[in-house]
Amino acid sequence: MTRTTPERPVDVERLFPELARYRRTATRLHPRPGAPGARDSSVGGPMLWPSDEPWPVCTHPHKRSSGERLEDVRLRRRIEAEEWRRASEAGVRPAWTEAEWEVLASLKRGRHAPWLANTDPIPLLAVAQLYRQDVPDLFGGPADCDVLQVFWCPFDAHGTGHQLALHLRWRRSADVREVLADQPEPVVVGAPGYVPDPCVLHPEQVVEYQYVDLLPDRLRRRMERWEGPEEERDEEAVGYRSDLSIAPGWKVGGFASWHVTDPRPMDCECGQPMEPLLTIATYECDSSTSSWIPVEDRETLEGAIGATSVLVSRDGNLYVFVCPRDPGHPHRLSLQ
Ligand SMILES: [Zn+2]
Ligand SMILES: [Zn+2]
Repeated sequence: MTRTTPERPVDVERLFPELARYRRTATRLHPRPGAPGARDSSVGGPMLWPSDEPWPVCTHPHKRSSGERLEDVRLRRRIEAEEWRRASEAGVRPAWTEAEWEVLASLKRGRHAPWLANTDPIPLLAVAQLYRQDVPDLFGGPADCDVLQVFWCPFDAHGTGHQLALHLRWRRSADVREVLADQPEPVVVGAPGYVPDPCVLHPEQVVEYQYVDLLPDRLRRRMERWEGPEEERDEEAVGYRSDLSIAPGWKVGGFASWHVTDPRPMDCECGQPMEPLLTIATYECDSSTSSWIPVEDRETLEGAIGATSVLVSRDGNLYVFVCPRDPGHPHRLSLQ
């Protein structure tokens, strides 16, 4: 099934023609639970990974013996999903059976991989695989590569602070003859939010406009006058930030939102301003961005809220910025 973003409630470029200079397309990915294959674009699906190539690993020094078992994370989600299904069929609130309760209570964090020293290589988790043919806004990467593979380490313990480590890999799909059948996974994860549920994608190209605080002052002030004072606006009122500027959810290309930190320059080490390549989102919409819910999901909302189960920041997005000049330059991350 395709996914269709409803037409924006107003034609903002007709109201503010100078916004045309701050327009850009983005491809919303609309991940939904499914069973993708290695030749599909996906979140949390199998990678088109050659059987004779080593799987990417994390060797950065940090603790990797303690956390939750990956299989426990999945078991808990299966039990929860089953309970939601039962409850919604019966029209009641979800409640665990005694047996489920016992299982859930037994799934605990702990030192589940005591054999792992702090620099032992652990397999990275497959996060997303994006084929150029499916995702019109996928940019960067070597010209002859047609698929981008995204991995991360399931611990936030890299660098100073609690940074996550993300790994991007471009490849030529035609080069892959035999796909690695048994794709490695870490035994223990630092946080369950790093574990994506397998999702198929329904890419859809939309138009976005620059984040409000990065527009020229005069334009921004005119827009604020048009929106009216914040305290006088009701919840249904159309807003630039919520309805017209930046699409919520997983996407490729488009603009980044800076609602947590305020805008900061994302420059590559070569001096080139970097561009947001991929947005990894906790939710596809919230109460302020409900106008972006696809037509096909409006009735049930099923799968439209947090289909991937990925949670990288409490309620926000992880932006992966890349250098448009050279795909070999290191990417940078922004959590918003
Ligand atoms: Zn790591
Ligand atoms: Zn660069």
